[in-house]
Amino acid sequence: MMKQYIEEAEEALLHTYNRYQIVLDRGEGVHLYDLDGKEYLDFVSGIAVFALGYGNEAYNNALKAQIDKLIHTSNYYYNAPAVEAAKKLKKASGMDRVFFTNSGAEAVEGAIKAARKYAYLKDGAKDHEIIAMEHSFHGRTYGALSVTGNPKYREAFEPMIGNVKFARMNDFESVEALVNEKTCAILFETVQGEGGIYPATAEFMRQVKALCEERDILLLLDEIQCGMGRTGYMYAWQKFGVKPDIMMTAKALGCGVPVGAFLLTEKVAAHSLTSGDHGTTYGGNPFAAAAISKVLDLFEEGHIIDHVNEVAPYLERKLDALVEKYSFIKKRRGVGLMQGLAFDRPVQGIIQRALENGLILINAGPDVIRFVPPLVITKEDVDAMTGILEASLPE
Ligand SMILES: *Cc1c(COP(=O)(O)O)cnc(C)c1O
Repeated sequence: MMKQYIEEAEEALLHTYNRYQIVLDRGEGVHLYDLDGKEYLDFVSGIAVFALGYGNEAYNNALKAQIDKLIHTSNYYYNAPAVEAAKKLKKASGMDRVFFTNSGAEAVEGAIKAARKYAYLKDGAKDHEIIAMEHSFHGRTYGALSVTGNPKYREAFEPMIGNVKFARMNDFESVEALVNEKTCAILFETVQGEGGIYPATAEFMRQVKALCEERDILLLLDEIQCGMGRTGYMYAWQKFGVKPDIMMTAKALGCGVPVGAFLLTEKVAAHSLTSGDHGTTYGGNPFAAAAISKVLDLFEEGHIIDHVNEVAPYLERKLDALVEKYSFIKKRRGVGLMQGLAFDRPVQGIIQRALENGLILINAGPDVIRFVPPLVITKEDVDAMTGILEASLPE
């Protein structure tokens, strides 16, 4: 049965992914099951999305209730779930204003527009520049792709939006060297995800923030992957006390319902996008907003962040033990439940063997295995994971 669906998928879908040869059918807690009923321990959670685990009853019931009530209405009208979701998101982030989107990339698009508008309102210039980072990933739409520091993703699609320069993460001098009177924004992921799991250092965060304040440049932090409790803080920047002017969130924000948001401080919100400047049909519709609202409730009620802080050091220790034991594993990098193991070789074969052995893992670049499990994993799950991973390593 799986084989037939896979063949049909390859006939019907545009081939933009080299997919693993399984058809996933259902989930329960931290486990997924394919159509043949085979069980997998999931250390990917749909790439840092399904934080609460599969089949969460309270979450599912909230969605069902909202479906029966109202799924969609236009942003030309108010709806209660969006107000609730926005209030909770403001509280969780400490930011002041919310714009809901359908995806991470769409949040990045809005953030870029807001930053350019802020600069435009100051001096009327139309050639403002953005500084982004090498090895970054911000999504596949044109604005997001334009600030993605991986030429491989961009090349065939040039020209990009323009006036984007790339500095090196955690290299403040490389940022400083690119700043001029046209710079309107400095943009990076607080922990780089796709680029290979590279956390920003406290020093880099503070230096960039000071530079931004001095020159009235906006700091844009992409928290799409590293946000929502994954690092042991609701948003990774909260660890450093370095608050962005605009922040992007998505992925675990909806725990599977496609949502995102960009959030602004009042200072920026008061001098950037205004009525008519930006919009989206679905963003913050009642169904999407009910998902966000419930996710934020469940984070609080379930003490998810405390749980991350309890289980993450255990994961780190277990991964560090693998680094010690195997010469071909070079290094562990990461924060909280966003970890990477850097190998001296491509990891695709290892991930494939792990899959066959019932463990779902994903790479971050060719030679890094990434660990972004549901935030509700236990130490026993970590033990099970490292057991299967070890059995999947080369001799
Ligand atoms: C996934 C991701 C995006 C893009 O989000 P989509 O929902 O896929 O558009 C942007 N930035 C980061 C850091 C991401 O991990």
